[in-house]
Amino acid sequence: MDVRKTIIIGSGPAAYTAAIYAARANLSPILFEGFVSGPVGGQLMTTTEVENFPGFPGSILGPKLMENMQLQAKKFGTINLVEDVLEVNLLKQPYIVKATKSTFMTNSIIIATGARAKRLDIKGARDGEFWQKGVTACAICDGAAPIFRNKDLFVIGGGDSAVEEALFLTKYGKKVYIVHRRDKLRASKINSQRVLKHSKIEVLWNSEIIEILGDSIVREVILKNNKTNKKEKKQAAGIFFAIGHAPNTDFLNNQVALEPNGYIKVEKGSTKTSVEGVFAAGDVQDYIYRQAITAAGSGCMAALDAEKYLLEHGFLN
Ligand code: NAP
Repeated sequence: MDVRKTIIIGSGPAAYTAAIYAARANLSPILFEGFVSGPVGGQLMTTTEVENFPGFPGSILGPKLMENMQLQAKKFGTINLVEDVLEVNLLKQPYIVKATKSTFMTNSIIIATGARAKRLDIKGARDGEFWQKGVTACAICDGAAPIFRNKDLFVIGGGDSAVEEALFLTKYGKKVYIVHRRDKLRASKINSQRVLKHSKIEVLWNSEIIEILGDSIVREVILKNNKTNKKEKKQAAGIFFAIGHAPNTDFLNNQVALEPNGYIKVEKGSTKTSVEGVFAAGDVQDYIYRQAITAAGSGCMAALDAEKYLLEHGFLN
């Protein structure tokens, strides 16, 4: 088996940007796009208009943006494999990457497997019900959609994401409710104060949404107070899950150091992980910014870091 220079795992903005840079640097990257692990193209495949990715003043559909990135990566010679990576062996060089159908040895790996927004299994929120018809897990991606304009919107969660998403949604919604399961926000003090003072935001404490109702789009929610068990129906156009994300790191089997919250630990200002020659980019290592553009930027960094590593260790001849 020949030893590859670099293998990229993932298919979001970080992975494709890493592939574009690695391919242009003659690293002949192989990119595992995944198959059953999630949509090829990552989280942007589940969104509609992307209005904040620079270079597209007229906005671009998430899936189209990803198709463009994939084409650009292929144009420079990236080999894309629609397979899931099942496990890696990082004990010694060359590293081994084992996927559903193929196995490779490689001198460097770029992990860009992203994260998935957590969803709640509420009646009405599932695929085929109102998911992406008013129910979403990304206010910043979807909040400006016409169906949410001047309507009542509900953000579920009590952390920094929930309060920031609620603040963001005040630009579009008539009223924004934060539905939180406890009587205290987890978000930072400054963020919490901003929502508690905001005239368009109301926090529904000790509350949960137990059902989402509508026709072709969301129209109402049924709320339950988990202290009093009282139920209430409210008009609604949008439900935004903001209950955290989970990074996709299971296949690493703890061979790379993780942060306490499960995200891959990278050296400050670089994409280096705890294992030499293994780099991480995008949402799998970023729990703060989590934007397509920051993921793409870190994908570029990972490819440059990998190229430097390969050069310095005599793997590029
Ligand atoms: P988070 O801090 O983990 O908060 C998740 C929230 O969702 C919590 O309030 C939690 O409730 C709630 N939740 C979790 N599971 C739930 C369930 N099954 N049903 C109902 N509610 C549920 O996640 P995050 O807000 O995405 O933030 C992640 C990290 O990024 C944090 O460290 C955060 O500080 C950071 N972040 C920072 C910024 C910033 O500094 N500008 C912005 C965004 C995120 P409980 O409170 O009851 O557990």
